[in-house]
Amino acid sequence: MVNAITILGCTGSIGRQTAAVAERSGVRVAALTANRKIDLLEEQARRFRPDFVAVYNEAAARKFRLAVADTPIRVGSGMEGLIEAATLEGVDCVVTAVSGSVGLRPTLAAIDAGKRIALANKETLVCAGDMVMARAAEKGAEIVPVDSEHSAIFQCLMGRGERELGKILLTGSGGPFRGRKRESLEDITPAQAVAHPNWSMGAKISVDSSTLMNKGLEFVEAMHLFRVTPDEIQVVIHPQSVIHSMVELVDGTVIAQLGVPDMGLPIQLALTYPERTPSMFAHLDFWKLRDLSFEEPDLVNFPCLRLAMDCARRGGTAPCVMSAANEVAVHKFLRGELGYNRIYDAAAGAVETVNWTKADSLETILASDEAARAYVKEHF
Ligand code: MG
Repeated sequence: MVNAITILGCTGSIGRQTAAVAERSGVRVAALTANRKIDLLEEQARRFRPDFVAVYNEAAARKFRLAVADTPIRVGSGMEGLIEAATLEGVDCVVTAVSGSVGLRPTLAAIDAGKRIALANKETLVCAGDMVMARAAEKGAEIVPVDSEHSAIFQCLMGRGERELGKILLTGSGGPFRGRKRESLEDITPAQAVAHPNWSMGAKISVDSSTLMNKGLEFVEAMHLFRVTPDEIQVVIHPQSVIHSMVELVDGTVIAQLGVPDMGLPIQLALTYPERTPSMFAHLDFWKLRDLSFEEPDLVNFPCLRLAMDCARRGGTAPCVMSAANEVAVHKFLRGELGYNRIYDAAAGAVETVNWTKADSLETILASDEAARAYVKEHF
């Protein structure tokens, strides 16, 4: 069980839930970071009394400094501030709840400082999986996944040897448009795409869930986190989201992790691991569970998942290029500047156009990320 945490990205959906779980679990919130939502950040800072708060956006940081001038809280800004928060002395776990590649440097810094990483930032492993996993092994930093699927797989593998694992069964709900044809999704609005049937999440990840890009990013993450090849991961659509993922062992035995779809559960486990503590969350009621059903993923009408699987096989910076292009395209879609089906076109176009190379340094990775973003901004 950890004593004190830093929350990178505390004003987002996972960040807010992490703060609530920490408070209930008696874990101290020692540092917070946010981009620019300083009203909510001030509320959180006054409630949790962290030692240090970093605001990424410089102008917002100046405002925030004035807002909390009556408190002893130290305030930092920019990437330097995020890194200071991630490496703060006395903190034993860093929850990486920021969205986007901005999470890369602070996560690597936290690993170098030997902190446990409660990993909720997808880009960390999608863009720099090889580097991050190697660095964590070298520094002895634990990586405990917060994403429900990876937490499930992590739990299914607890106490097992590497040679027992046959394959990973990565489950996904299929999103709000499951069963529909791609042509019929042309006019989908942001409001429709953000309304997820089972999980309450931020806007960007909700859109990714609807296109199945989220499952694709999780596919790449699982590959790194559990050291398996793309052929050892099978995506299984399970619309009820009761099973959060499974593993098949070499003898054919399948171990599944089930629970109510609430991100609070994997967040709590990431803070208490290797222990478990009672939780405030609802428990499964088997008399109320209806059928649990399973389908093959539809890679024709949801080509983002197919693209991600291709990029996982290509390796290098291909997943990073795809993810960065997708991020820009999704934000354009959310602003009403890009049609829904064009999100895939932008991500696929970037993978075809932007050079992808070996992901052997942070500079190479960030350059690919930047090139992919520039491509989408220019062409879409
Ligand atoms: Mg997930």
